Amino acid sequence: MTERLYLADSYLLEFTARVVERRPGAVVLDRTAFYATSGGQPHDMGTLGGARVTGVEAEGDAVVHAVDGEVPGGEVRGAVDAARRRDHREQHHGQHLLSRAFIETCGAETVSFHLGDARCTIDLALRDLSGAEAARAEDLANLVVRENRPVETTWHSAAEARTLGLRKLPDGLDRVRVVTVKDFDRCACGGTHPSRTGDVGQIRVLGWEKSKGHVRVTFVCGGRALLDARSRAEALSAAGAALGAGAMQAAAAAARAAEDLKAARRELGEFRERAAAAEAGDLVARTPAVSGRRVVRASFPGRDVPALLALARPLCGARDAVFVLTGQGALVAGRGEDVPLDLAAPFREAAAAAGVRGGGRGQLFQAAGGTDPAALEAAADALARKLAP
Ligand SMILES: [Zn+2]
Repeated sequence: MTERLYLADSYLLEFTARVVERRPGAVVLDRTAFYATSGGQPHDMGTLGGARVTGVEAEGDAVVHAVDGEVPGGEVRGAVDAARRRDHREQHHGQHLLSRAFIETCGAETVSFHLGDARCTIDLALRDLSGAEAARAEDLANLVVRENRPVETTWHSAAEARTLGLRKLPDGLDRVRVVTVKDFDRCACGGTHPSRTGDVGQIRVLGWEKSKGHVRVTFVCGGRALLDARSRAEALSAAGAALGAGAMQAAAAAARAAEDLKAARRELGEFRERAAAAEAGDLVARTPAVSGRRVVRASFPGRDVPALLALARPLCGARDAVFVLTGQGALVAGRGEDVPLDLAAPFREAAAAAGVRGGGRGQLFQAAGGTDPAALEAAADALARKLAP
């Protein structure tokens, strides 16, 4: 059996213990300050007699320390990574306060907790959550942090624990460890908690989503809340600077920029249409009618299908014209309203010869994906000759 020192004192970081079992890459001690992964809280890290502790797992009554290096036998000195312990204490205790706050403000129980590397989540027994409800719970939890209330851990028999009005009572335990926040919350828990709520620093709800019939709330506490607030402020400042505005005016400036962009795109579309109409008129005017039909054949090596179609639409308005256009691996053909031709079969044939794929109907056909410019031009020329009267 390993005595778990962190259950009595979550601030204890250095300790000595006796190695009671050695395994390949792992040791069992008679006592330890290293927290073993459980209850949603990951294990501690640190050093054990000069070796790095990379994992800590409970195995019945024993705590197994995975180590990266040699641990001497006999008496050994352990040191828990202080920053990681502090971080986990902040996140886990913040979770207790937030879970209780959601009960008080929304009547919502917490059904699960996950302490992640960057963010934490709780799943609430709720169908949906509004912004106002989330803010009320966040406000209440942070008020209890600022009030710096005492936090106590006590041990009880299972029978006694049942009378304490705990949020959740684990099954099958003879003795139950209870973490109590004065006049606020009481919860059965084996985690590392602070002696006062003020140690949590701050609790920030970052967002929430519906997940398998619950609401999953993402949050961070303590040092993580500070880093999150800083990185958001920096991002907002950068966004404002890019828009020529201060951080707090960034949203309004972005909305104005989006409106300007929309108007500019509309205007550009109109200009493109006018330019295409003028270009189409020019092409038709330069092509003499032979036996009442103008066969327009033109190549635009840099243009893709949308650019060719922009030109093709006004060309379809020239009643006596048929046209064959080529672009970058693209073939577009069509005819004016008065030209009595079915383009489907000849276009299909030209597309096959050019190695392009596509289709169309009525007055306009298009294909793309060509990789052989010479074959494309030759197929387009052949199609134009076929469409001549
Ligand atoms: Zn807990």
